[in-house]
Amino acid sequence: MKSFQSGHSRVMCPNIDCGIDLALDALSCPKCDEPLPIGLRDDLLEIDVAHSGETWTEALDKLEAAISFARAQRFKGLRVIHGSGRSRDDDAWEGPGRIRRESLNYLRQAAVDIDARLMPEKHNRGAHLLLF
Ligand SMILES: [Zn+2]
Repeated sequence: MKSFQSGHSRVMCPNIDCGIDLALDALSCPKCDEPLPIGLRDDLLEIDVAHSGETWTEALDKLEAAISFARAQRFKGLRVIHGSGRSRDDDAWEGPGRIRRESLNYLRQAAVDIDARLMPEKHNRGAHLLLF
């Protein structure tokens, strides 16, 4: 599974003799005509918004960027690791509890907006899948 890094949302031509940067929604390379491996996108993009010291607002920014990247790149969906929210107490106003809560609110709204499905990952309280 490919994982999303903020600031690295770019695509390179898969032709190793070319390797130029491509637009996120490119279907083929404008320089060498190499078709982009859209078939590979039968996969989920993974993003972790909870384990790099993010604040909850940073977590939402990452989610927003990852959703648009995953859609532009025609991934099947997004695997969002938002953490279990249980470091101190579940109802903490800030911290992991809030990242989890705000992320889920954001994902529920995004699912409605882009007509995607949001489902909890099996046996994992710390992640949800957003399927396009
Ligand atoms: Zn190329």
